[in-house]
Amino acid sequence: MADFDAVIVGGGFAGVCMLHRVRGLGLTARVYEAGSGVGGTWFWNRYPGARCDVESMEYSYQFSDELQQEWAWTERYASQPEILAYINHVVDRFALRGDIQVNTRVKSAVFDESAGRWRVETATGDRVSAKFCIMATGCLSSANIPKFKGRDSFGGLMLHTGNWPHERVAFTGKRVGVIGTGSSAIQAIPLIAEEAAHLFVFQRTPTYSVPASNHPLDPGVQRRVKADYAGLRQTASQMPFGFDTRSTEKLAMEATEEERRAEYEDRWERGGLPFLGTYADLLFSKEANDTAAEFIRGKIRAIVRDPKVAETLTPTMVVGCKRLCSDTGYYETFNRPNVTLVDVSRSPIDEITPHGLRTKDQAYELDCIVFATGFDAMTGALMNIDIRGKGGITLARKWAEGPRTYLGVATAGFPNLFIITGPGSPSVLSNMVPSIEQHANWISRCIGYMDEQDVERIEPTVDAEDAWVAHVNEVADGTLYPTCNSWYLGSNIPGKPRVFMPYLGFPVYVQKCEEVAAKGYEGFALMPR
Ligand code: NAP
Repeated sequence: MADFDAVIVGGGFAGVCMLHRVRGLGLTARVYEAGSGVGGTWFWNRYPGARCDVESMEYSYQFSDELQQEWAWTERYASQPEILAYINHVVDRFALRGDIQVNTRVKSAVFDESAGRWRVETATGDRVSAKFCIMATGCLSSANIPKFKGRDSFGGLMLHTGNWPHERVAFTGKRVGVIGTGSSAIQAIPLIAEEAAHLFVFQRTPTYSVPASNHPLDPGVQRRVKADYAGLRQTASQMPFGFDTRSTEKLAMEATEEERRAEYEDRWERGGLPFLGTYADLLFSKEANDTAAEFIRGKIRAIVRDPKVAETLTPTMVVGCKRLCSDTGYYETFNRPNVTLVDVSRSPIDEITPHGLRTKDQAYELDCIVFATGFDAMTGALMNIDIRGKGGITLARKWAEGPRTYLGVATAGFPNLFIITGPGSPSVLSNMVPSIEQHANWISRCIGYMDEQDVERIEPTVDAEDAWVAHVNEVADGTLYPTCNSWYLGSNIPGKPRVFMPYLGFPVYVQKCEEVAAKGYEGFALMPR
């Protein structure tokens, strides 16, 4: 059995960054990655139109200024192939590939109490041990395909956006059905519509989306950012979501109607997620939120020509409660003659048939079904691994009523197990790359501290964990987030406990992590060597 200082599960942005950090500590490490290449999210999500909705200049690592300076992004929002090329470049540039074993899914990770080591087993039969086990398994990596009756009877092509084939899928001349209208669907739908003979969009909940206004990145803009990259990173780190949303302290209800309209119009034109940064109270006050929601509803009515279709596309919930989307020509697509919107909230999908699918009211003949039905978010990938801590307790049992962590980075009873951007950390409510990097930095500093101080094991105390879980919930309860059935709450997965999983507030969170470290890892139990 091979022994490592650290086993890292997952070779996406988190695993790659963590490997770089533990290498820096002089530790031996092995990364296991289920895919045939690195990249995680950006390896698997190859559907047409897949691109990041955080600007490319910010969706990148900052651990090496040379890397920041030499890499040139081509668009304001980077496409999936470009991000995949970037992460591969990072792996090669820092000579990390040798420690990454691809095509290898981790099956179990069991803490051996007497040896104080994690025993990790893969589906391909590797058995290794490591002092530290670091879960870099991703927040949105366990694809959710609803268990529709007759699902496996379909005779055509069935795809999930999060597990897309590597070769191009041709939709020409095909009748295509897309199930779902979340971030993945709204990117894929306009492009599939351009190609398909006919596209049926099966929508359960309408989506708020702001145009991305994507464009080639002006070399002048890029040069200016690079001249003070640290400045951009610093500004971003002080924003509520950890990226430059141009968030203000202004309150919507303190502005006049004309001022609000002008602000929203300006943000709509500039495009993207900073729309939610227009006013500080948009996610806290229903009255404030209504003003933003009504603005977007007005845009939908203006864009979509058929008033009935427009009405079906118009959301009624709080804007931002489910993740705000950012699109290129999404609502406009419903003006095409070859696109039909099907409201499956009124007439749910009853079954998948050999030739298509049937809703309560009607049968649809399809050559291809695209499931854009999302993920078992934040906990799914962890639950797919048999993780056992002290006393043989499984993580699945410990988290049966919802995930419990301290700072989203560790969980009591599982010594020397770290989770990158786990539930209870800002993760999906932030720019993922800086959040990943902040965790990888914090974990590597913690490991370094343990070495200096002769600490053998670390795990959160139950008290600290309980207090943190309560705090995460309290913060969420003070917002409008729990007012709809989002995947943040696990509501998209039947039977999953309804618990708000991410922590809202990147700057406050980072400060808390710093304080915990400065106080000798307050809230953690440290066992000496
Ligand atoms: P998602 O946001 O969870 O959307 C899933 C869609 O499938 C929803 O419209 C959902 O409807 C629908 N659905 C699920 N089960 C269904 C069923 N049984 N019947 C009918 N409809 C069903 O998933 P996603 O679009 O893959 O996005 C997930 C997250 O990934 C995003 O929120 C974002 O954080 C990230 N992402 C980011 C980007 C980007 O950076 N641009 C792109 C893609 C994804 P309901 O709403 O009614 O449940």
